[in-house]
Amino acid sequence: MYKTTGFKRAFVLILVAAISVAAGSVLYWKQVTQRLSADARGSIVSASRELVENFNRLLGTEFQVLASVAVSLDQPGALEERDKLVAYLERQNRRNSFTLTGYQGPDGKAVFSDGHVLQDFVPAQDVKTTYEKGHYISGRRKGPFTGKDILVFAVPMPGQQAGIVFATQTIEFYAQALSPNALLHGEGLSFILDRSGNIIVAYPRAVYDNLFAAGRDSVFDRGRSSLRMQQEMSRGESGWTGYTLHGEHRFASFAPLEYNDWYAFSVLPTKSVADTAQTLMLMSLILCLSIIVVLGVLLIFILRMQSQSSRALYRMGFVDPLTDTDNLNAFRFKFSRAAAAFKEKKMPYALVLVNINRFKALNDIYGFEQGDQVLKQVALSLRESLEEGELFCRGSADIFLLLLACPSRMELGRRMEGVLSRAGRYCQSDGECLPIALTCGIYLVDEDVPFYIMLDRANLAWASAKQNAGQVCAFYDEQSRKQIVTEKRIESSMDQALRDGEFKIYLQPKCDFATGRTCSAEALVRWQHPKQGLVPPDQFIPVFEKNGFVLKLDMFILEETLRLFKRWKEQNKPLVPIGVNFSRLHLQDPRFMEVLAQTADKYGVERRLLEVELTESVVFGNVELMKQVIDGLHERGFSVAMDDFGSGYSSLNVLKNLDFDCVKLDKEFLARGEGNPRMRQIISGLVGMIKSLGAHVVAEGVETAEQAEFLNRIGCDWAQGYWFSRPLPVEEFEKRLAAENQPPAAQEAAQDKKA
Ligand code: C2E
Ligand code: CA
Ligand code: CA
Repeated sequence: MYKTTGFKRAFVLILVAAISVAAGSVLYWKQVTQRLSADARGSIVSASRELVENFNRLLGTEFQVLASVAVSLDQPGALEERDKLVAYLERQNRRNSFTLTGYQGPDGKAVFSDGHVLQDFVPAQDVKTTYEKGHYISGRRKGPFTGKDILVFAVPMPGQQAGIVFATQTIEFYAQALSPNALLHGEGLSFILDRSGNIIVAYPRAVYDNLFAAGRDSVFDRGRSSLRMQQEMSRGESGWTGYTLHGEHRFASFAPLEYNDWYAFSVLPTKSVADTAQTLMLMSLILCLSIIVVLGVLLIFILRMQSQSSRALYRMGFVDPLTDTDNLNAFRFKFSRAAAAFKEKKMPYALVLVNINRFKALNDIYGFEQGDQVLKQVALSLRESLEEGELFCRGSADIFLLLLACPSRMELGRRMEGVLSRAGRYCQSDGECLPIALTCGIYLVDEDVPFYIMLDRANLAWASAKQNAGQVCAFYDEQSRKQIVTEKRIESSMDQALRDGEFKIYLQPKCDFATGRTCSAEALVRWQHPKQGLVPPDQFIPVFEKNGFVLKLDMFILEETLRLFKRWKEQNKPLVPIGVNFSRLHLQDPRFMEVLAQTADKYGVERRLLEVELTESVVFGNVELMKQVIDGLHERGFSVAMDDFGSGYSSLNVLKNLDFDCVKLDKEFLARGEGNPRMRQIISGLVGMIKSLGAHVVAEGVETAEQAEFLNRIGCDWAQGYWFSRPLPVEEFEKRLAAENQPPAAQEAAQDKKA
């Protein structure tokens, strides 16, 4: 998404740049062309001005030369003899540059320097003009002897003499004078013409006689500019005009000469101007294009960098680096859209939380690197199980989340079992397969609640699945939610309850089978809740085990027990050893034994009176640590009991290696022996064996006379059960002990009363 908008923006930018460069180029080109045109105009105007000057000067010189010939002829007798005249003219002609020089008398007879004689060579009309103006130039005419085009010049004889002196010169001669000057770059044309457009001299040679009347070959157009020029020329004005001929733009400039009604006319094609402009234009266009290309490349480069860094940012925020899959952020981000799609299809969907069982242990045993490999493998396998529209992410550590379609609970449950069993198949390259088990919690989304609540519910379902050994997946239900609510309530009030003394100890006697006498007791906690009344430990100890509060509570019960001992001692009351339950969490604390010893000493209680009850499951976890603890407790004078023997994975081996003072048979164990002779035999054998190891055997949960009789028969030492006594409030326990310690007569009375 980001990428496309970025490139769109770049494209628009480049487009805008290209358009502005194109517009700029056009403007630039116009400017350049205008400038160049102005230059061309300037040069053509000055070229024709120069031409006018040169030509005026040239003609002026011709007249001066002719005038000097006339002056030299103005001598008495010079004109009288034709031979002399011819010789004289011939001499003069050699000195000047004319083709021929001559004299035409009043009788119209023209004598040429080459001896020819012609009548009225200069027509009478022109002779008259010569006299009137003092000089005369003919139009273009044919030379009388050569047939070449010529001009005829004439000046009147000075003084009293009649007649005129004339000279002829070829047009060709003057054409040289028109040869293009530097200003026209050798590309122009120059004419001398009269006001009607008749061409007198042309360079290069013109193929027509009249500029305005010329056909297709004319260098001048016959349009408006031609008309305007004719008008201006008829008024004797000078000027310039631009026009297009045969697709080519030209400039023409015209200015009058001093002689006759002649004009100098120059034309410069602006093709060179256009060419130069085009070259300039092309060059600047190429320059602009290269700038655009460089800019574009730069822009694309910057955008790529940007998109790369935004990709990196995306990875940081939305990708789990270890498994290279979505992380929780990405999952949450995609969740609502995916959920909406399911809703639209009317397909129920579920949030599934998958956790690797005992992943920490896996890490501890096989190392983090293997742990990472397992995570990657599980992630891959889970992701591969997705179908269209479903989502997956690694939530954190060893927790994975899935959003899956849930056609029915049964279908999804079955699917997850398959998925988890596949995901748990992890074998290393050397063939060793790690024992990976996965558990999942499923929240079938049935309510519009925030994501974190859904997550909570999936988590809750997972917790309940985990509690039931052997269960792979559990669905969230109201009951587990209520349980959580209760747990939360317990957690929020436990500290205050401890401070307010709401936790009480109850004491349950451990009795001698034969006599029923209280030989020992166990301290059991009760929560005297202000609203709920007396709460049994099963409802809060598991919660405290989870949150660690049990550590504080156990120490509190220990101190309560020690306080009791102290008081009894002070009051000289009978004493029996009391067992106190300690959670397995204490074993992680190396100071545990020392704290126990110090606390006992603080109350001045004999350590042998305190029995530390540790549950069997602790032992299963770590035999070595357990051995250290038991030895340490023994060293400090405490006795140690193994609680709940037979409830879990009891191992005789463990028993053999650990030096318990007492083993407490779990009440379930005993219940299983009910009506089961084989089980009874096993129990009997066990009791014998434990006793042979030197430990005391206490049977828990003795509820019937029959059970008591059986246990007594097989050699069990003591019984702890309702048949003998329920756990009692301290006061009642004290009374019971007191009664037992009365003299025999009083005791019998008491027994009778009970019966
Ligand atoms: P436990 O240590 O196995 O304690 C014996 C439990 O069996 C007591 O339950 C007791 O009331 C019950 N019981 C005794 N005789 C009979 C009988 O004849 N029939 C039946 N059905 N039950 C009998 P309680 O007091 O509810 O304690 C439950 C568990 O709570 C204890 O089991 C113990 O694991 C834990 N607990 C109690 N107090 C503490 C404590 O201060 N600290 C710790 N960490 N755990 C405690
Ligand atoms: Ca116990
Ligand atoms: Ca027990």
